[in-house]
Amino acid sequence: MTKLVIFKEKAGETRVALVPADVQKLLGLGYQISVEAGAGELASFNDDSYRKVGAEIVEGDALQQAKASADVLVRIQKPSLEDLDGLREDALHLSFLDPFKEKELLQAFAKGHIKAVSLEMIPRTTLAQKMDVLSSQTSLAGYAAVILAASKMPQIFPMMMTPSGNISPVRVFVIGVGVAGLQVIATAKRLGARVEAFDTRVAVEEQVKSLGARFLKIDLGEDAEDAKGYASELTPEQIKKQQDAQAKVCAKSDLVITTAKVFGRQAPILLTEEMLAAMKPGSLVIDMAVATGGNVVGSDPEREIITENGVRIIGADQLERLVPLDASNMFSGNIRAFLEHFTDSETKELQLPLDEKILRECLITTGGEIVHERFKN
Ligand code: NAD
Repeated sequence: MTKLVIFKEKAGETRVALVPADVQKLLGLGYQISVEAGAGELASFNDDSYRKVGAEIVEGDALQQAKASADVLVRIQKPSLEDLDGLREDALHLSFLDPFKEKELLQAFAKGHIKAVSLEMIPRTTLAQKMDVLSSQTSLAGYAAVILAASKMPQIFPMMMTPSGNISPVRVFVIGVGVAGLQVIATAKRLGARVEAFDTRVAVEEQVKSLGARFLKIDLGEDAEDAKGYASELTPEQIKKQQDAQAKVCAKSDLVITTAKVFGRQAPILLTEEMLAAMKPGSLVIDMAVATGGNVVGSDPEREIITENGVRIIGADQLERLVPLDASNMFSGNIRAFLEHFTDSETKELQLPLDEKILRECLITTGGEIVHERFKN
């Protein structure tokens, strides 16, 4: 029997890593599941909803005991170093880890002989699609960004023609059209906005057009897409060219949402002070890349900024937290799919072959060492 613990997240997080419906499915696969008291509260899943499907609610000493004997530990946010105290050797830990920045944490996992899976490293392949937490969460963040903008803006999104006057549709510019950006476009279009978008990957143009938005054409030379489908890093000259070409669109937009990231690296600055100064007073910028340095000069994850000419900038990280019920359902489905993939349906044993295609890309530590090629040194 595989023992699994679901933790309550730290302050600021509203989601829970596994919801009762998926707990029930895992119990059917032979898991024994303990849930830290209050873990699902903010996502609308109370302790009783977990008890009803057969999980045990634990806190205090009972939580410590569950933790010490667990085979699998599940949380959304990266743990603190103290969270790793008292885990048994060879336990599997699933969470985001921010591995490019968290050297000490990776070393602590290795030292504790824990098998740490970094959810952000799960490959974006067809086989692993149903485990893709980055996609499931950022698409909801894209939706939430538009709803947040609509609630903050001084104007409405759709066109209106009335005897009292006419209202033009709001103009939205989306920079970076990956998973989040596509959902931003779709949501803004549904609300009636006029949307323009840009991404450095050539394949994106068709996707933007199919959503009824206009694609801004900027010739940056070769296609900036790497073998894994991610954007490659631009040269300073290419970034300057992109900034110049975008300046005019920003100046006439009421809302600019940026989502441009380069996996494992700092996000490029795509809105400069000069570009912000040329924007209309009252316009809004939402920087969804703020956690990796931001696309907008001066954007801050902690507070809203207002420029001298009255442009508001919101550095928005993890906006999926604004819709914790759906975000938890999707995250939980991804985690369940991961565990199902590695659980033998007949023997009900968890099996983690180190050469398995998905595992070898997301398992960072095992057997007392950092084993992932990218983080070994
Ligand atoms: P991301 O969050 O790393 O980046 C967001 C977007 O920013 C990307 O579209 C990227 O091209 C863009 N970008 C980077 N630099 C830019 C710049 N200077 N200007 C404008 N845009 C810039 O990416 P993501 O949304 O997580 O996913 C990227 C891509 O990965 C997807 O669109 C897709 O092709 C691929 N993907 C594949 C699968 C799958 O096959 N299962 C699943 C998810 C994603």
